Amino acid sequence: MPESRGLRTLPSVASLLGSDAARSFLRSHPRAVVVDALRAIVAVARAAVDGERIPLSREAWTDRILSMLPGEIASRESLPMRRVINAAGIVVHTNLGRAPLPGEALAAVLETARGYSNLEFDLAAGERSSRLSHVEGMLRALTGAECAHVVNNNAAAVLLCLAGHARGRDVIVSRGELVEIGGSFRIPDIMAESGARLVEVGTTNRTRLSDYENAITGRTALLLKVHPSNFSVQGFTEEVRTADLARLGERAGIPVMEDQGSGALIDLSSHGISGAVSLRQALSAGPGIVTASGDKLLGGPQAGILLGKENLVAPLKKHPLSRALRIDKMCLAALSAVLRLYADERRARERVPVLRMLLEPEERVRARARRLVRAIRVSGKGLSLAIERGGTSPGGGALPGILLPTALVAVTHPRIPEAVLEERLRGGTPCVVARVGRGKMLLDLRTVRDDEIPELAGAVSAIDRPPYDG
Ligand SMILES: *Cc1c(COP(=O)(O)O)cnc(C)c1O
Repeated sequence: MPESRGLRTLPSVASLLGSDAARSFLRSHPRAVVVDALRAIVAVARAAVDGERIPLSREAWTDRILSMLPGEIASRESLPMRRVINAAGIVVHTNLGRAPLPGEALAAVLETARGYSNLEFDLAAGERSSRLSHVEGMLRALTGAECAHVVNNNAAAVLLCLAGHARGRDVIVSRGELVEIGGSFRIPDIMAESGARLVEVGTTNRTRLSDYENAITGRTALLLKVHPSNFSVQGFTEEVRTADLARLGERAGIPVMEDQGSGALIDLSSHGISGAVSLRQALSAGPGIVTASGDKLLGGPQAGILLGKENLVAPLKKHPLSRALRIDKMCLAALSAVLRLYADERRARERVPVLRMLLEPEERVRARARRLVRAIRVSGKGLSLAIERGGTSPGGGALPGILLPTALVAVTHPRIPEAVLEERLRGGTPCVVARVGRGKMLLDLRTVRDDEIPELAGAVSAIDRPPYDG
């Protein structure tokens, strides 16, 4: 079949391999990877070439193909998981692994994973014990709960609670709290999985105590309160406070369960971050059982924490689902180490990265932004850098609507659109996740560690140099 004129203008893989951009990649990447990436891009170009209304020259095609090379190589080389510098300005970023752990937790994980441990062994008595003994006492002390239990994550904690206390019976929830947290955690779905029957009361924006009261029947097993997490309802709204629900539950003899979500162990509002309810505060409102994540505002590893009255929490430990949903030893080691830091609140604020990032004064973030700007090497008429004010989101659905004042390094280039700058950082090594806005690429320094500044500066400095064309 004769080639169309368009196809003849496509450069060959062999000629592309001779380009500066490809040669630069060949120095740091296996030849097979570069060749394979070029073949894939050329194949896409071949499919597109006849669709071009104005045929491109060979040079234009070469430029276009080579501009796609960094991304194509990155996509092939990406290991299952890579370290990411989070400059996106979301502290508990679910897609980036939520809470970074303090050094104490890392050391505990290493120690536990490397060898054997007393995971389920009482060293004093020389006999088998519960793996949760390492954290239960600390959780009780830190929150005032009568009883504590820990599973794999909060979704598991909610499922266990519903299955253990309400299978085959009714659970009353406000229509304003039938939330989806993300990653397919939806209250109605998890309710269905648990075997409990959802009874919705009230409306999206207003639910009153009488709505719950009127829905109570002989089949009611639980009154459930869910922290709306990632959204807030504004305007003409009304919700029932947990304390009032707890009083109703007491009168009716029905336990109240609250999915608190964030797992905050300290009162952040006393540090200027309003809206976050700590686990101790949540429990003091009187619900029988409270569930939360270990890797949101608590700042620990993935875990699901259940706290509350002995008669409600203790039976769940023996539930068959508890075994299926149990926390693994590395998470347990990390959680135990993080909880130990909370014994001294000031120490926790200094050592737990999530707390440190949330509470760092704006001025200190700004100083880090200045250090970054000084460390970036700007070439000629290339990048422009400016420090601007902005807002960091706490993330993790913990404090919807709250933005912490922060310092952004805004990056622009006369010829490279901000979205391309962002894409290049994302495809680079180290991988940097930034955001775009105001016509610029924005780097939020609140979520960047001091020791990441040199690498981040290197990545930004390289953004308009080979293998990228300026
Ligand atoms: C985050 C969250 C969950 C899910 O917790 P995971 O630890 O991700 O399983 C459930 N409920 C609420 C209210 C949450 O905020």
